[in-house]
Amino acid sequence: MFSYRHSFHAGNHGDVLKHLCQLIILSKLKEKDKPFTYFDTHSGAGVYHLDSTESLKTREFQSGIAKLTDVSTNNELLAQYLKMVMGYSKFNQYPGSPEIAHNLLRAQDDIVLMEWHNNEYENLKSNINGRNISIHHRDGFEGLLAMTPPKMKRGMVLIDPPYELATEYKQVVETVVKAYKKWSTGIYAIWYPLIKDRKENAEQFTSASSKQGQSQAMLQALSRQDFKNLLQVELRVTSEEQAEGMYGSGLLIINAPWQLDTQLASALKEMAPQLASDAKGSFAINWLIEEK
Ligand code: SAM
Repeated sequence: MFSYRHSFHAGNHGDVLKHLCQLIILSKLKEKDKPFTYFDTHSGAGVYHLDSTESLKTREFQSGIAKLTDVSTNNELLAQYLKMVMGYSKFNQYPGSPEIAHNLLRAQDDIVLMEWHNNEYENLKSNINGRNISIHHRDGFEGLLAMTPPKMKRGMVLIDPPYELATEYKQVVETVVKAYKKWSTGIYAIWYPLIKDRKENAEQFTSASSKQGQSQAMLQALSRQDFKNLLQVELRVTSEEQAEGMYGSGLLIINAPWQLDTQLASALKEMAPQLASDAKGSFAINWLIEEK
């Protein structure tokens, strides 16, 4: 437990998709002056150094944010994301989800960050602070349930576990179902990886024990709930057949705001081809629960 360090993965294509979605949802919430709350259940360190030993070991950022360095776009939201992250890449850094929220939220909004790993919690505390930011050294699943509903009834929850443990997929479903009962107007964004199971292990996997099987089970369990709506967005940098390891990722968004689907589609239309590692790269946006 807890061997995961996001510094090995910062700025990869999964981060790019997740943070673009985060920015679009937060921009939607900012359309009204009324304050809101942002929860990050699995915050990480907040800011990452792309010249760290960890980053340079995997170089995952090269198949993510580094591919967008020279992209110019007329898409306003994509341009906003790129402008923000390029401000960090000048210093060989990449902002994590807490830092993106910190950049975007206003003085009247609340930022609630949770991180369970001792060192990452200390890193987060030294990287981020502000009057409207609270940082909790606790289990994000337990913390979210303890702190919902927030005083400000509008808001967003980002759930971004490392999925190191098989139990985390189930824990996401259980936590979200309970949290939704307490706070049914919050927007919940759940990130998940698309990982090809290693060939040598494929035979010993049942569909329920493979990462792919667990992601699918999580998706199906959430699709069966009585949510107002559920939007799925996936970005693949190649096809599963061509892939080794993580070939894409997705987000499940409960209470997706109006027009999030079309805004994501126009941003991804420009971004997905840049991130594709071959002609098989693609993106998809589907309503798993349509609003009545
Ligand atoms: N959301 C971050 C971002 O986009 O910049 C990245 C988060 S990283 C994928 C997952 C983080 O969750 C790690 O820093 C890990 O230490 C932490 N973690 C693992 N289990 C946790 C738990 N139950 N509660 C809170 N944090 C946890």
